[in-house]
Amino acid sequence: MALTESVPAAAPPAHQGILRRQSLRESAARTYARSLPIVPVRARGLTIEGADGRRYLDCLSGAGTLALGHNHPVVLEAIRAVLDSGAPLHILDLATPVKDAFTTELFATLPRELAEKGRIQFCGPAGTDAVEAAFTLVRTATGREGLMAFSGAYHGMTAQALAASGGAQHTGVVRLPYPYDYRCPFGTGGERGAELAARWTQSLLDDHKSGVPGPAGMILEPVQGEGGVIPAPDSWLRRMRELTAARRIPLIVDEVQTGVGRTGAFWAIEHSGIVPDVLVLSKAIGGSLPLAVIVYREELDGWQPGAHAGTFRGNQLAMAAGRATLAYVRDNGLDRRAGELGARMLARLTSLAGAHDCIGDVRGRGLMLGVEIVDRDAAADAHGARPADPRLAAAVQHACLDRGLIVELGGRHSAVVRLLPPLTITDEQADAILDRLADAIAAAVRILPGPTGSSPTTMRGISP
Ligand code: PMP
Repeated sequence: MALTESVPAAAPPAHQGILRRQSLRESAARTYARSLPIVPVRARGLTIEGADGRRYLDCLSGAGTLALGHNHPVVLEAIRAVLDSGAPLHILDLATPVKDAFTTELFATLPRELAEKGRIQFCGPAGTDAVEAAFTLVRTATGREGLMAFSGAYHGMTAQALAASGGAQHTGVVRLPYPYDYRCPFGTGGERGAELAARWTQSLLDDHKSGVPGPAGMILEPVQGEGGVIPAPDSWLRRMRELTAARRIPLIVDEVQTGVGRTGAFWAIEHSGIVPDVLVLSKAIGGSLPLAVIVYREELDGWQPGAHAGTFRGNQLAMAAGRATLAYVRDNGLDRRAGELGARMLARLTSLAGAHDCIGDVRGRGLMLGVEIVDRDAAADAHGARPADPRLAAAVQHACLDRGLIVELGGRHSAVVRLLPPLTITDEQADAILDRLADAIAAAVRILPGPTGSSPTTMRGISP
């Protein structure tokens, strides 16, 4: 599809009607649909075509799911092959050739320790269900209850996964500081901030009066996604691995969003070289269809049959689409490509930050990029950080959509513009994304001038 978009003078009534019926019939809890009032009807690669005839560059990619973009030919072919073969589509957790091939392909991508001595549990089809499974697994294996998780984390919306996420309050989960360079809780940032965060964790574990009982496991994301695209330093990840290994605490790494090449390595753990005890995988492993698994060291495999069950653990189409995706990423070195292209995009975002006071920080790893929008009129703290400006970030997101670019907001205050393009994008498409983003930021600043709190002007859809 061409990158240029056609913008009809007025959106057709069918498009308007669908959106109107959605707002009348769907839940108040709906999310993306609020900030992205579009009606996708066709999609290919980076591009979505709406019912209004407009084309959009999709940098949300199904919340990081679409490693190969929309409707990649190898994914469609794999799905068609299963359909044409007459294989059952729904088969609980029984063995099938499709599942066998998926498992073989997945294991071929894993670090040797997990590939050779790992076990896989197929979970209910969402990432959050795999997180629940991981918790049940380590609780059973250790006989302990408590968990350690990190500020700003996101692990899903089921009870235990939510409890381990940053926005929740839960007594069974001890919250630890995650290294966040721009807003370092220790006021130092960099390697030093990460080191202090690691020391805090160590002191909680070793101080018998810390009030923190020995946990059943520690869960972390190598790059926090929903938390605002925050990559953890490799040295800090190694410290977490050492600390947990020395104390026989299972380390659960949640690669639901970072997996399958996204960060510039096939799995984000490869950057630091750590091998967790449990790896939580979903999103891209299903090649755009729902699939979630945990892979873990066999020593942990002491749970009983049915300890983690679920009807929908046998989605054959997802396994076929996932196998095709894993193979395509591996065979075409798309992980390396994501690393190289991501570094170039980050360099361009850095120069964009130099031109706009409202960009407090740009960061990311591979094709998981974030631009933190801040209040340009507020004073910086001692470390140079200024308060987040969610209103301006929403205006940027809106201005992006007006320019045919779909981006998501994340972070503590929904003030981080997130870019999660498919790993298959061309250099030209990457430039088009950044051109539109740069233009959108300039427009949002023009439309929403002055400090946060000044009255909104003509922009549609910005809630106070
Ligand atoms: N873990 C991480 C790191 C995620 O980013 C997400 C989803 N954004 C989840 C878990 C939950 O996945 P799901 O929405 O499929 O339940």
